Amino acid sequence: MPSRILLVEDDPVFRELTASTLEHAGYEVSVAENGARGLEMAKVESYHAIIVDLMMPRMHGFEVIQRLREHHQTFRTPILVYSAKIYESDQRKAISLGADGFLQKPVSTDSLRAALDNALSCVKVTFWGVRGSVAAPGPDTVRYGGNTPCVTVDYAGRTLILDAGTGIRKLGLVLQAEARDNPLEVDLLITHTHWDHIQGFPYFVPAYLPQNTVRVFGPRSLSKPLDKVLRGQMDPEYFPVALGDMAGKIIVEDVRDEVISLGEFQVTHTFMNHPGVTLGYRIQVGGVSIAYATDTEVFSRMLQHTMADKAQAEGLGRSMDDDLATLVDGVDLYIGDAQYTPEEYKVKVGWGHSSCEDAVRLATHAGAKRFALFSHDPMQDDDAVDRKVEQCKRLVSELGGHTEVFGAYEGQTVSLRPDAPSHAD
Ligand SMILES: [Zn+2]
Repeated sequence: MPSRILLVEDDPVFRELTASTLEHAGYEVSVAENGARGLEMAKVESYHAIIVDLMMPRMHGFEVIQRLREHHQTFRTPILVYSAKIYESDQRKAISLGADGFLQKPVSTDSLRAALDNALSCVKVTFWGVRGSVAAPGPDTVRYGGNTPCVTVDYAGRTLILDAGTGIRKLGLVLQAEARDNPLEVDLLITHTHWDHIQGFPYFVPAYLPQNTVRVFGPRSLSKPLDKVLRGQMDPEYFPVALGDMAGKIIVEDVRDEVISLGEFQVTHTFMNHPGVTLGYRIQVGGVSIAYATDTEVFSRMLQHTMADKAQAEGLGRSMDDDLATLVDGVDLYIGDAQYTPEEYKVKVGWGHSSCEDAVRLATHAGAKRFALFSHDPMQDDDAVDRKVEQCKRLVSELGGHTEVFGAYEGQTVSLRPDAPSHAD
């Protein structure tokens, strides 16, 4: 199936020329004659990539990019800026608004194909829910978001979902809108079955449509297989629809193999320090690696509080943290448990979550290129999360590390490419 491209260009000569170049290169093309029209079209149809001219009547390209990034249907669609005059300051501005690349007019078939291949082949990580423990919506959490864990990794038209917290509800709507009536196949990895990681599943719309297939993987819990736990949360006492009554094909499997191969995605796992059975995942895809370890307590810090012999606690803790450090080793992006501030952690030792500073220390030592502070505590408002992020950035520079730290927020998309600097939109 050819990739569908939307070309937003006001100049009729360039519009026709570029559209025919795109068609010649094998793409299916729709055209919009101005920014406002392009935005309208992108909201109702779904496209694999959007090419936007900068100087246009009614709405210039910068505003189009900004609006596309704000809309749920287009906030992760690759956008290429297309202009005759591409100044560095314009490029920086467009990138900061969320553009993925640039094309110089007039564009040749080869450079167009290369730019689109590059935009379409990058790995995109999107955050749909970043809150730990329980959903915490409200005016104090609007910037980072109140939904519980759900993250997607997109590559070459395939979506891998990490956890089914309440953030998966909106993801389901977006995936279904993108797929229209075509069958949708998605894979979902569950880290563990605490409420905040599975509670959104009954609200995942694609699971209700007969043409769709949802494969779910996760650990067998202490006493039952994953399938039974997911069915349990949809017992009639808790929810009006049983899992077996969802019309989609739902396949639930306990994680047993060392490596799960899902097309181009290779997934390995390790056990976390968290009550019950909890997994952390490492995903290798499109030449990049991502570690996802949302609920885990750094052993070395925990033992400092629970063992009398501090030196022994330090040594033992470090060796017990080795598995997590191996999971995170050199990854392009680590999405990790940074639930508490060091002060909050002191009264929550043994709760199965980490202080942000311990987490960032581990990420820095393991050489993670970027660390997304994740699983924000429901007691933390937006300003508190800001302070936590700043504290962690300072720590990385004190440690002389190179890990780039940011606080994951709902609706954020991070583009990753092999051997190239990545950027958070
Ligand atoms: Zn948990």
